[in-house]
Amino acid sequence: MSEISVTLPDGSSRRMPAGSTPGDVALQISPGLAKAALAAVVNDRLVDLDVPLREDATVRIVTPQSPEALGLYRHSTAHLMAAAVTNLFPGTQCGIGPATDEGFFYDFVVDRPFVPEDLDAIEKKMKELASQDLPYERQMWPRDEAKTFFGSKGERLKVQLIDEKTAGQSEVSVYTIKDRDTFVDFCVGPHVPSSGRLKAFKLLNTSNAYWKGDAHNQPMQRIYGTAFQTDADLKAHLRRIEEAKTRDHRKVGKDLGLFTFHPWAPGATFWLSKGTTFYNLLANYMRDVLFPAGYVELKTPLVFNKALWETSGHWQHYRENMFLIHGHDGEEMAMKAMNCPGHMLVFASEMRSYRDLPLRFHEQTPLHRNEASGVLSGLTRVRQFSQDDAHCFVTEDQIQAEVESLLRLVQRVYSDFGLEFSAKLSTRPDEYLGEIATWDHAEGALKRALDAAGQAYTVNDRDGAFYGPKIDFDITDAIGRKWQCATIQLDYQMPERFDLKYVGADNAVHRPVVIHRAIFGSFERFIALLIEHYAGAFPLWLAPVQVTVLPIADRHLPYAASVRDRLAAAGLRVDVDERYEKIGYKIREAQLQKIPYMLVVGDKEAAEGTVSVRARTGGDRGSSTLDEFLRATTSEVSRKAA
Ligand SMILES: [Zn+2]
Ligand SMILES: [Zn+2]
Repeated sequence: MSEISVTLPDGSSRRMPAGSTPGDVALQISPGLAKAALAAVVNDRLVDLDVPLREDATVRIVTPQSPEALGLYRHSTAHLMAAAVTNLFPGTQCGIGPATDEGFFYDFVVDRPFVPEDLDAIEKKMKELASQDLPYERQMWPRDEAKTFFGSKGERLKVQLIDEKTAGQSEVSVYTIKDRDTFVDFCVGPHVPSSGRLKAFKLLNTSNAYWKGDAHNQPMQRIYGTAFQTDADLKAHLRRIEEAKTRDHRKVGKDLGLFTFHPWAPGATFWLSKGTTFYNLLANYMRDVLFPAGYVELKTPLVFNKALWETSGHWQHYRENMFLIHGHDGEEMAMKAMNCPGHMLVFASEMRSYRDLPLRFHEQTPLHRNEASGVLSGLTRVRQFSQDDAHCFVTEDQIQAEVESLLRLVQRVYSDFGLEFSAKLSTRPDEYLGEIATWDHAEGALKRALDAAGQAYTVNDRDGAFYGPKIDFDITDAIGRKWQCATIQLDYQMPERFDLKYVGADNAVHRPVVIHRAIFGSFERFIALLIEHYAGAFPLWLAPVQVTVLPIADRHLPYAASVRDRLAAAGLRVDVDERYEKIGYKIREAQLQKIPYMLVVGDKEAAEGTVSVRARTGGDRGSSTLDEFLRATTSEVSRKAA
């Protein structure tokens, strides 16, 4: 029998009979490893343990400690769920069931939507199938046989997937759990070797879905679940989900009266009075940060002729994401989905010299993207939004310094908001435009800028845009979730497309480089993040209402009004609860509204010209003169205290 050489992660190699499997390799290393093994990475490819090795190969055994394990558990649990669903609901059609960052889902065509009792029953069935430790087995079926098999079961969507994904193949890969009568799925794998490995999973909720995410296609029901390696990890995750629910910006935003939505304007926010105050606070904060940093603010059109989008390339590649508008005389226009192309026109509207650079255009006007209605969600997936968007036009030599100062801006802004963050650098992708030397220069400049700004970062190899490398930032919120917000993106292509020029010190004409950058990202998303991070209890400097004055009885209304006027004149955002209600009720209401300070005023306070201060945190702070209160709060605001 012929032999092959198997190289292990420690560099050692051993001879094995050809046709041995990674499972055999694990067993030869140790019975313990064979027992823990879930799958294997063979020559950089994740495969099942029972795939025969025909040639020399490097083999790494995937165990529960490996980075690949969680995804394997989750995808394998999706299969287990589909097995339970098709057993409990014969005639159900299966769609797809991938692992996700948070767990897994599977889409089904069913006669009626799932109800919570269904999920309980499905989960129970999954536990039963898991306890039987049924094998997941890969089988190669002749393509026609597979199509006939799925077709005879009414699995129209599986037949379609086989048609689309395996054209030209004679065989297709399917997986059974136990046998083809129990469950079979068209899938390339890999999976855990048997259902007994799946010990910690939970079904979470259902939602409407469409085949391939397109609302024109077959409506489906999606079941979301999650899976972990241990019960402790699962429980911790479920606690985080509960915590996230209480912080959900859609709920908190409604409770605090910040914003609302209406079905007649899908994905577009109605900012209510307090929400508008909050929004403007952020907008003006950003202006205050950017003006001293050398930015100018622009307001460019919201609707452009398609000629602009053809020049930028969006007409060819992004048209379905834009709202198209027909003007008179058949003029084809589109609502702007990003500011960049307009800023290119502004740059090109004058003769530019190297002395003008860096030139930094900032803009906060609304953008529109034609998102499918099915994906719209609160402030995080919207059709209308604004960004703290800017484009910096620089010379090749200015890239490093400009990016360094941008990094310092990002650091300053996030620390003002009390947010932790991390940076990642994405480098040249496999499909790129431009010269390799230009890319190398740009990537080098970004790395040096990151080092100079003292910014730690990870590298996402080959994950840059086709037009240039970029730095992205992830914010980690109070309950450990990551939100991608800021981005700094080099672009060599758009200046080409718009034929941008400046006259250099050498009197020759040169092409500038554009840096697209945003720090908040979209205001809408950043506000959602802040709401969930602070669970609606904003620090004083951000609170839409900072102080509420609570008169004990109607006879204290005039004094309450004088307190409000005094504080408002000093720049605080303050209101008076004038309702005919008991003081205890007013205090509770103010606490629910998460207002940082409550000033109770009655006979004593009116006579002495004082206020009785209650803080949202820490309760009663005792009596204070207005001057004392103003000094303390003004200092708290200017320190941006958390
Ligand atoms: Zn699968
Ligand atoms: Zn841009």
